[in-house]
Amino acid sequence: MQNMSPDTICIQGGWQPGNGEARILPIYQSTTFKYSTSEYMGKLFDLEEAGYFYSRLQNPTCDAVAAKICALEGGVAAMLTSSGQAANFLALFNICEAGSHIVSSATIYGGSTNLMAVTMKKMGIQVTLVDPDASEEELEKAFRPNTRAVFGETIANPSLVVLDIEKFARLAHKHGVPLIVDNTFATPINCRPFQWGADIVTHSTTKYMDGHAATVGGCIVDSGNFDWMAHRELFPGLTTPDESYHGIVYAEKFGKLAYIEKATAQLMRDLGTCQSPMNAFLLNLGLEALHLRVPRHCENAQKVAEHLASLPEVAWVNYPGLPGSKYHELAQKYLPNGSCGVISFGLKGGRERASRFMDQLKLGAIVTHVADARTSVLHPASHTHRQLTDEQLVEAGVQPEMIRFSVGLEAAEDIIADIDQAIAASKE
Ligand SMILES: *Cc1c(COP(=O)(O)O)cnc(C)c1O
Repeated sequence: MQNMSPDTICIQGGWQPGNGEARILPIYQSTTFKYSTSEYMGKLFDLEEAGYFYSRLQNPTCDAVAAKICALEGGVAAMLTSSGQAANFLALFNICEAGSHIVSSATIYGGSTNLMAVTMKKMGIQVTLVDPDASEEELEKAFRPNTRAVFGETIANPSLVVLDIEKFARLAHKHGVPLIVDNTFATPINCRPFQWGADIVTHSTTKYMDGHAATVGGCIVDSGNFDWMAHRELFPGLTTPDESYHGIVYAEKFGKLAYIEKATAQLMRDLGTCQSPMNAFLLNLGLEALHLRVPRHCENAQKVAEHLASLPEVAWVNYPGLPGSKYHELAQKYLPNGSCGVISFGLKGGRERASRFMDQLKLGAIVTHVADARTSVLHPASHTHRQLTDEQLVEAGVQPEMIRFSVGLEAAEDIIADIDQAIAASKE
């Protein structure tokens, strides 16, 4: 599957039925799995045999979906998580511990900023948030001897900043640490960060991958490219014995699969942020049309962005697909087939006008969601980024008047007509 077109992987990747087995992915709605000898079960616990024993750790439905996403990203191993938040936490915590430090782009999802700057800080892990557009020299200054990971988003939610993945990969590798890229907004249909040097990719599958606002979920994919043993002193969790697993050294025993094996055997065991088989089944249905939906989201968003840019009532429009965008060049390099369906813009009239406009929309719904088949709209300053101060808002690339407009799969002309009537009705 790895070498096939993404279109084929979306449809046929993951579940490969044997003779007489279900054609489509079955839901293994079972907490546990039966074995005939006690000895065999013991070997499973020792990671000596591969097999399922408890769905908190692994489940065949979830693994099939993870395998599909793994193939789409061109990775070597992947795991599903209960949410995108869980994916980013596990991805970082798998290689960080108290005393570690992370360098992260400042323009990321508000939940990820909180995860690192608030919750992981309480665990003794520090983060330095950097301007992703800064020069390499400037970014160098953020690194410390205890830096263990670099983090960014291919297309940031909601600022739509496009990450210069090669620049961040170069910096990370110079300091002997991996680059973790949250590829939620681009999806592997529009960008495969491993091709540009990223080592680990995360997803909130809640967004385009599911695409129907049906299930919260996440995924971590490993490229297998980062050589943990070459930097063994930085990553003792992977390169020294895990006493909670009979002294296994993950990087020695599992080679390129070490990172996901450790995240499963150790972190999923202890933290339990697993995805349910039912949710994985629904996610898989979404993935089966990802290659059809994503281009249509982008096509619609391009039309809506161009329309917004032509309106005198609109103060600014931010969409990487617009030639005037600050990120147009980076988008052409990393996202030649389109960026995403999300646009941000500001209306003349600021914060108050934004609320009035949103209240007037008929097709576009006010929801805490993006990347849905249905057009959705949100005001980050009063919703997702509500916890941030005005200063933090600006740092995260969020202007107080910013409207995050997630263009759905309806007819573009109907979405545009809805915008026009809401702009007219929100005039004072
Ligand atoms: C939504 C989102 C998350 C968090 O994912 P959940 O599934 O809501 O937990 C993380 N990163 C990005 C870029 C997101 O858009």
